[in-house]
Amino acid sequence: MKIISNPLELKEYLKNNNKTVGFIPTMGALHEGHISLINRASEENELVVVSIFVNPTQFLKGEDLDNYPSREQADKKICSFAGVDVLFYPNADDIYTSDEVSVQAPNVRGYVLEGRSRPGHFSGVLTVVMKLLNIVSPTRAYFGKKDAQQLNLITLMVKQLFMSVEIVPVDTVREADGLALSSRNIYLNEYDRKEALKISASLHVCSRMVSKNILDTKEIIASMRETLYPLEIAYVEILNRNFEKIEQVEIGDSVILVEAIAGETRLLDNIWL
Ligand code: AMP
Repeated sequence: MKIISNPLELKEYLKNNNKTVGFIPTMGALHEGHISLINRASEENELVVVSIFVNPTQFLKGEDLDNYPSREQADKKICSFAGVDVLFYPNADDIYTSDEVSVQAPNVRGYVLEGRSRPGHFSGVLTVVMKLLNIVSPTRAYFGKKDAQQLNLITLMVKQLFMSVEIVPVDTVREADGLALSSRNIYLNEYDRKEALKISASLHVCSRMVSKNILDTKEIIASMRETLYPLEIAYVEILNRNFEKIEQVEIGDSVILVEAIAGETRLLDNIWL
């Protein structure tokens, strides 16, 4: 596995390779969720590139940028073992200068749900993803459905800015008890981790109601909120795949999203029905 930190060196290395390239951007502290993205990219492409970069512009003041888990040696081993061809591991000053052009998240879709509690977060995400996609020029880029709003906004950016990359959504990987894997799960103590299970449990409540043909979103959201009690809820929403509010679940076109805070950790989860 080749490890490169300089963007121009990576561009040069990938130039004229005549191979399909699958790209997985990450912030490291890799887990089975990231590995499933890597595996999917390996199945569908001749060359697999992973980036590990804790992007400062997507963290708001007071968030966990300085404490974000870093496991450089373990991550390198995981990538190598998973068959990654190139690991891009830049520093912040390889990516940013002090005076920067940036991508602005859309005023509506970028500032609802997670964007409401983290205003500006998605501008940071879109800016770094734009930079990374321009550096790697992949055939396909892989993103987890777990970060559904991020996936939606990246898909929108690629479409609206006429970019030439296929965005591939990948299913959420969970622990055996239902908790969605996240690099931030290590912040949870035993009690908070137990409480956090209410998040996936609330999504189960929703799918059970839908399977009984209860489709009214207000009714479903009320039951989900009961299941989440006493967790602090940032939002529980049922949207269509365009991220617009709906009154009735439409099978095949609905996303059910939850963000709740366990201890001090914001946890996201969702299901696509
Ligand atoms: P992160 O390192 O948290 O920025 O995540 C990098 C990529 O992995 C993003 O596309 C995430 O959506 C994806 N990802 C994170 N957790 C999971 C999971 N549990 N299952 C599938 N993909 C995930």
